[in-house]
Amino acid sequence: MFSEELQHISWEEVSSRIAAMTDADVRRALSKEQCTVDDFMALVSPAAIPHLETMARLSRRYTEERFGRTISLFIPLYLTNSCTNSCVYCGFHISNPMARTILSEEEIIEEYKAIKRLGTFENLLLVTGENPAKAGVPYLRRALELAKPYFSNLKIEVMPLKAEEYSELTRHGLNGVICFQETYHREHYRLYHPRGMKSHFEWRVDAPDRMGQAQVHSIGMGVLIGLEKEWRTDVTLMACHLRYLQKHYWRTRYSVNFPRMRPAENGGFQPNVVLTDKELAQLTFAMRIFDHDVDISYSTRETPHFRDHMATLGVTTMSAASRTEPGGYATHPQALEQFSVSDERSAQEVEQALRTLGREPVWKDWDTSFDQASSALINTPVIRP
Ligand code: SF4
Repeated sequence: MFSEELQHISWEEVSSRIAAMTDADVRRALSKEQCTVDDFMALVSPAAIPHLETMARLSRRYTEERFGRTISLFIPLYLTNSCTNSCVYCGFHISNPMARTILSEEEIIEEYKAIKRLGTFENLLLVTGENPAKAGVPYLRRALELAKPYFSNLKIEVMPLKAEEYSELTRHGLNGVICFQETYHREHYRLYHPRGMKSHFEWRVDAPDRMGQAQVHSIGMGVLIGLEKEWRTDVTLMACHLRYLQKHYWRTRYSVNFPRMRPAENGGFQPNVVLTDKELAQLTFAMRIFDHDVDISYSTRETPHFRDHMATLGVTTMSAASRTEPGGYATHPQALEQFSVSDERSAQEVEQALRTLGREPVWKDWDTSFDQASSALINTPVIRP
């Protein structure tokens, strides 16, 4: 389990190593085809800032070699804002006396139909707060079953589950799971997540191991940038986690996401750091140079201008036309949203912008029949001459 590996990595030591990176370290990293975590530290360090243009060129090259000019488009659907956790940075936390919504089966179907009217979406991400009693595995299983006639690629972003629960959901159409660690700083993690299941650091950090054991096709990772002032250390630990997972679950596809917090306007949680566009670009380039195969995903938290720019330089997956309130597409458009969307363009506007930039928007990049085909291949005995 990665939690055991993490015990041997010192946050302070990683921070010091990043701070000590030199121009020579950055040049060495840029000259390598296969980068180590040490190289990633150099690329994400302040010493790499004078090399941003070179990094952007390399990032584009590696991305186009691996993904062509495609950008995969997906849409999230929030099924509920009911949550038993108390994350200090989230408006859905249990102590907020807000109205809670859990979509019924009829409402879920209405939302699916409304999404299909927005665009040619085939990649759907189902999102919930964490309330296992009211929106647990049976509820998710049903939502997946209901989604199958409408979408070909189903992912979830929900509470961490047991391996057997991930397995069960894969039998009901689940293709991918996203679970952000939020932060790898064990002590600070407890301050940000004081109560509820999410307060258990190890249970969360080992969730991707359980996904790998359950042979989930795609695993999504992320840190919430804004929690830790030393964000470079946090993303380095995520890079270590990524390498660890790739070594242990090599059949799985991986994606990373760097959601960044913005200053709260109405007295909410104030981020400890606000990442600039330039820093987020550097991080994106560093991740692409470090790992040519990983999907890099940007959400509609980012502005249209920045998303368009980065779509040509390393990003491979984007959400579009997103609503972050449960039932936001049809049944509960006035519910409280989890975070504000900066890119409010329609799916067609995003698609058109990408085409203008010479990108090829992809609405469907997976079909559950591929799963059956690949498992048939895996189970087929190899005939040797
Ligand atoms: S971040 Fe997720 S788990 Fe935490 S309070 Fe918000 S909805 Fe609940």
